[in-house]
Amino acid sequence: MSQSVERQFAVADSIDAALSARRSGAAVLAGGTWMMRDPRRGHDLPDAVVVLSGLSGMTDIAIDPDEVVVGASVTHEALADALRGSAGFEGVVVAAEGAANPAIRRVATVGGNLCTPDFSAADLVPAFLAYGAMVELATPERTLILNMAEFLKQRRELLRTAILTRIHLRRDVAASAHARLPLRKAGDYPVAIVSVAVDGEGAIRIAVGSVEEQARRWTSLENALTRLPGLPASPERAAELAREHMDFSGRDGVEAEGWYRCQVLPALVRRAFACLPKLETRA
Ligand SMILES: Cc1cc2nc3c(=O)[nH]c(=O)nc-3n(C[C@H](O)[C@H](O)[C@H](O)COP(=O)(O)OP(=O)(O)OC[C@H]3O[C@@H](n4cnc5c(N)ncnc54)[C@H](O)[C@@H]3O)c2cc1C
Repeated sequence: MSQSVERQFAVADSIDAALSARRSGAAVLAGGTWMMRDPRRGHDLPDAVVVLSGLSGMTDIAIDPDEVVVGASVTHEALADALRGSAGFEGVVVAAEGAANPAIRRVATVGGNLCTPDFSAADLVPAFLAYGAMVELATPERTLILNMAEFLKQRRELLRTAILTRIHLRRDVAASAHARLPLRKAGDYPVAIVSVAVDGEGAIRIAVGSVEEQARRWTSLENALTRLPGLPASPERAAELAREHMDFSGRDGVEAEGWYRCQVLPALVRRAFACLPKLETRA
């Protein structure tokens, strides 16, 4: 005889109420597209959840001259729609509109994508890393603003009590691109992801997702590319340097083995550089 479980569902009317629900053990429920598969991963669904989408600003995208602020409950679809056509955001748009499939993108949120430490193939994580995004968290003690690398380092620990509220995207990125390799055309998690962003000063940031357990910047390649004259490098030269500076150790997973994830990276670098919108050549 199966036992029915009584689950608690709360809609927060303030961030303090949401933090208090977290302290009592409730998990944040956003789009539920990751959480719904917990039982398949051998985890129980949470006994209590708290929903944040009613909180002020959580579903807003504020586009100002200096920065874009994205609420954590914004969906992938809404993010892509809001930023499509804005210079510098090309990579973020491809990440948001290329992930999963249309039905998932309609409900899956930016916050859910960033707050899932066990999910190595999240598209927005490398896109925001390359972009230089800052994340804002509400914690029981204070508001925290962290860069993506710092957030990823502390993510598992922070998310025991904190709530991601906003993502801040500066507007000094001149061009960006996001190249992903799913094994089928849609619905698959990508086996490897390369995100590239170039700022107005010519600094290049490259982030790789899905290859290792956690996305990270490819700093050896960034440094090699920065030493080249002209900006950005040709796609072929960038791919060549990617092969020379391969310092990833791929994770084995159901979709692909680790060596394969590393092997495809130079081709994804080439593809990302080929997609970068043209910039003024640096003297
Ligand atoms: C068929 C399918 C294909 C997919 N393909 C892709 C893909 O190609 N690329 C990709 O990136 N993703 C993909 N996903 C994964 C998933 O959709 C995303 O990671 C999604 O962004 C999760 O968002 P959500 O709003 O549904 O999160 P939820 O499932 O609601 O939550 C996920 C986790 O984040 C926590 N959380 C959510 N919001 C917050 C917050 N504000 N503060 C603190 N914690 C929070 C939750 O408590 C939970 O632990 C796919 C999913 C499916 C089902």
